[in-house]
Amino acid sequence: MKVVFIEPRSSGTNVYSKLPMPLLGPIYLGTILKNNGHDVEIYHEDICAPDYSKLEADVIGISILTSTAPRGYEIAKKFPKDKVIIGGVHASLLPEEAAPFARHVVVGEAEEIITDLVENRIKEHIVKGRPVENLDSLPRPDFSLVKEFNRRSFFMPISTSRGCPFDCSFCSVTKMFGRKYRFRSAENVIEELRDKRKRQIFFCDDNFTANLERTDKLLNLMLKNKINQWACQARCDIAKDTALLRKMYAAGCRVVCIGFESINQKTLKAFDKKQSVGQIKEAIRLFHKAKIKIHGMFVLGSDNDSAKTIWDTLKFAVKEGIDTLQMSILTPFPGTKVYDELEKEKRIFTKDWSLYDGHHIVFRPNLLSAKEMQLNMLKAYTRFYSLFMAFSALIKLRFRNAMFHFMGYVIVKKWKKQHRKMHWLPA
Ligand code: SF4
Repeated sequence: MKVVFIEPRSSGTNVYSKLPMPLLGPIYLGTILKNNGHDVEIYHEDICAPDYSKLEADVIGISILTSTAPRGYEIAKKFPKDKVIIGGVHASLLPEEAAPFARHVVVGEAEEIITDLVENRIKEHIVKGRPVENLDSLPRPDFSLVKEFNRRSFFMPISTSRGCPFDCSFCSVTKMFGRKYRFRSAENVIEELRDKRKRQIFFCDDNFTANLERTDKLLNLMLKNKINQWACQARCDIAKDTALLRKMYAAGCRVVCIGFESINQKTLKAFDKKQSVGQIKEAIRLFHKAKIKIHGMFVLGSDNDSAKTIWDTLKFAVKEGIDTLQMSILTPFPGTKVYDELEKEKRIFTKDWSLYDGHHIVFRPNLLSAKEMQLNMLKAYTRFYSLFMAFSALIKLRFRNAMFHFMGYVIVKKWKKQHRKMHWLPA
């Protein structure tokens, strides 16, 4: 059978949408189907969109996030419903919403059922996937299935684990992958890395260092196999293990993305983040000491955040020397505690999911108006991603930082132009 997977384009311009990276889910599923004799193509619309007027397939798989769900449904409507299967995080959170657009909606992980689904051996409309217990049993994802991947994608995403034992109130990861960590073995990961030695690797695990024993073994294998530079996501509590940070750098780690979330201790508590502002500062110092750059991720808009919190966060990022900054507006993803609370209090004013991308305020904050929140966030972003910051980084010979400040400057300017009327905000 001919099976085509489509990942809908991002809903709007943001500082990082210029570096598109395909989701791994459709690539794993596509690889399994290819190994079972099917003819598979994968399109990530931000990398290469198909010509829908000529696209023919027996099955269309669409993977949706909350912000890409409306576009996903639009794509689904282009095909007969009995050919469409919808999955992904948003479909797992709200399967009934996706159901009218597809013959099957998959909730959770689909690797163990995808062949039966495609070959029509499953009759249920909404199908519960099963978590893959042994991640080493998965095939090596075949990126050649993704159209234009080699030409247009800068990063090579690799996943070495699934799940997260934490339960941050705004996060939907655990709803998709559960609250138990599952890991690939170090040997299994290095096999995949060996043929990607020359690519910029991004470990997209939510916490790359969660299993210290496995991480240490993997770093040793990376050193031995001379793996190229890479980036990963981690929690700030690992920074106290300075020997680990030194080894990460030696093994090629150049950037770590950390969910600091807030410098407001009350917000950290409300998010159930289980980290303190003191830990955040110490983590920045220790990572920098190990020569690893920091992409700091913050979420603003909790009931304890005011306009001042936004500006304090910006000052903090500049003062502590965070290399690249991601300030997202708190987004109530369906299924999260934040969503349930805001929904109960009737503070969510739009369910246009395309706005649920961390760049649009979609609920009434507590200490300021929605418009004030949006404008202050935009101004703070404009201050960080400015020509002044780009030149400052250049003078300090921080070329990568300068490039991001400049790219951010162009994109934020475009975003502001597109959203001048702020049409979605309540009057
Ligand atoms: S934000 Fe990170 S640490 Fe918190 S639940 Fe989500 S993945 Fe886990």
